[in-house]
Amino acid sequence: MKSDQPLRREKILKGVPASPGIAIGSAHLFSQDIPRVEERSLSDGEVALEFDRVIRALEKSSKELDKILVFAQQKVGDAKAKIFEAQIMVLHDDVLIDTIRKRIRQEKKNAEFIVSDEIGKYASLMLRAHDEYMHERAHDMEDLKNRIIRNLLQEKLISKLEGSVIIVAHTLTPADTMILSRNHVLGYATDMGGVTSHAALFSRSLKIPAVVGLGDVSREVETGDMLIIDGYSGTIVVHPTQERIEEFEQKHERLLTFEAQLALLKELPAETLDKHSVELSANIELPEELEYVVVQGSQGVGLYRTESLLIGRDDFPSEEEQYQEYKRVVDRIYPNRVIMRTFDIGGDKIAPGMAEEANPFLGWRGIRVCFDRPDLFMNQLRAMLRASTRKNLAIMFPMISTIGEVRKAKEYILKTKTDLRAKQVNFDDNIQVGVMIEVPAAALTASQIAAEVDFLSIGSNDLIQYLIAVDRGNSLVAGLYQEFEPSVLTTLKHVINAGHKEGIWVGICGEMAGNPLATALLIGLGMDELSVVPAVLPEIKKIIRSMNYSEMRRVATEALRLTTGEEIELYLRTVFRKAFPEIPLDNNNS
Ligand code: PEP
Ligand code: MG
Repeated sequence: MKSDQPLRREKILKGVPASPGIAIGSAHLFSQDIPRVEERSLSDGEVALEFDRVIRALEKSSKELDKILVFAQQKVGDAKAKIFEAQIMVLHDDVLIDTIRKRIRQEKKNAEFIVSDEIGKYASLMLRAHDEYMHERAHDMEDLKNRIIRNLLQEKLISKLEGSVIIVAHTLTPADTMILSRNHVLGYATDMGGVTSHAALFSRSLKIPAVVGLGDVSREVETGDMLIIDGYSGTIVVHPTQERIEEFEQKHERLLTFEAQLALLKELPAETLDKHSVELSANIELPEELEYVVVQGSQGVGLYRTESLLIGRDDFPSEEEQYQEYKRVVDRIYPNRVIMRTFDIGGDKIAPGMAEEANPFLGWRGIRVCFDRPDLFMNQLRAMLRASTRKNLAIMFPMISTIGEVRKAKEYILKTKTDLRAKQVNFDDNIQVGVMIEVPAAALTASQIAAEVDFLSIGSNDLIQYLIAVDRGNSLVAGLYQEFEPSVLTTLKHVINAGHKEGIWVGICGEMAGNPLATALLIGLGMDELSVVPAVLPEIKKIIRSMNYSEMRRVATEALRLTTGEEIELYLRTVFRKAFPEIPLDNNNS
């Protein structure tokens, strides 16, 4: 802190933890000025030259975006870089360019005004949709519009920063996040955005701590202010006191030491002290996360959310495109197994061409969409089966509520196999097929469902939401979303018993699997597999390796005996604190 500045009061702000890590440093307030667009009438002489200005600005914008695209592909991978391809495509859209040309000629108005109006139409259309994904796309269009206008006005973009800083902004476009990361950025803090915003996604890939959705941090902070960002808990501290800085420096040190210790477990199996083995695998959203999964010492992929392939595009990937992606994933993880979930679209995960619904979580979602769009479903099944020749791929269906749906989904697999056989295409004829248990109806009929499949994987995120009737994304009822409710525990136990009676394994791939407080409980209940976000995998492995299975069984029995969620959580905390005083409880599952 500068000594000539009056001491400012420390302030703590809570936001959404978007990318883990702790950063301490000075703030750089980043604002991308929105270029002002004025409406101006042109003389006949000007009209003829105006369109040339548009072409030059489009070319310049395209060159800038080409560079950003290449950089993004290197840094965050092809899939996430696709949004820049989409922006470049708009720049080359003949219909758009022709409309701009015609309007300048007919209306005799300046290029900035016409460009802003035309591209603005796309953005407002997207903003009218009531979902976060389309809003993000609208922001991409706004970003593109501002880039072209800046180039029409020949304004320069600021992208060079002095020293190492924490970027504070109202919002960050994907392009800002990429370009700024070429400097030494310690962290990001933004007013807007959720965990699925691109700034969040990119900062996670770039491994830069970030907290988003802070409300008005950009008004609270000035360039040069001292800041702490805690990307684990989603907290930022503005004008921290010296004691606070020391506290966070110590926390940072502790976490680094802890992470270094965990790295030593990489090659070791996930087994308890008394040699009970558990399968510990990772969830992935994008193939780009594969390397991280391998580095973290995962035994395989317990959930590949394939619907993430649809992010940033307005069509469905072809069978061939999907095959290439799936093949890349199974090859990298071989000889370990990858469980691929068929597209779980709908709910809060929208997809190309989906209608708005009043109650999306109870609506056209997951397997229901697949049955209504057999073309898409079979395309995906063909791509998965073709990628299964090394026999380390398993298929899993989301959002199953009835046994009829399980049978129907399996018929699609049979039909796909027959088609492939007729074309003499190779695949794994014994491919394992499982379902997600995430709807209470499926949990209640788990015995019958288990008789039809090779494994059950509990999707606790949805199961809890449907069981307690509490929207998993609604902050108003977030307090009711309780992983340790007796109703949840009883349901887990019921599903595990049902699976085991039919001689199949039962796993869990919701966020609960990665909560260190739940590890002993879940294994003690009899869970055979835990699939967790890669970031917490080493820590969960350490917990497994430090306890006896007999002890875990006792923990589960005691937890099942207690009658409220609060009591159960308190009990698990006490057990945890006693067993692992050195493990920080607030550095994960955020
Ligand atoms: C779940 O519901 O627990 C799950 C893993 O699926 P998703 O979070 O993708 O809905
Ligand atoms: Mg789910």
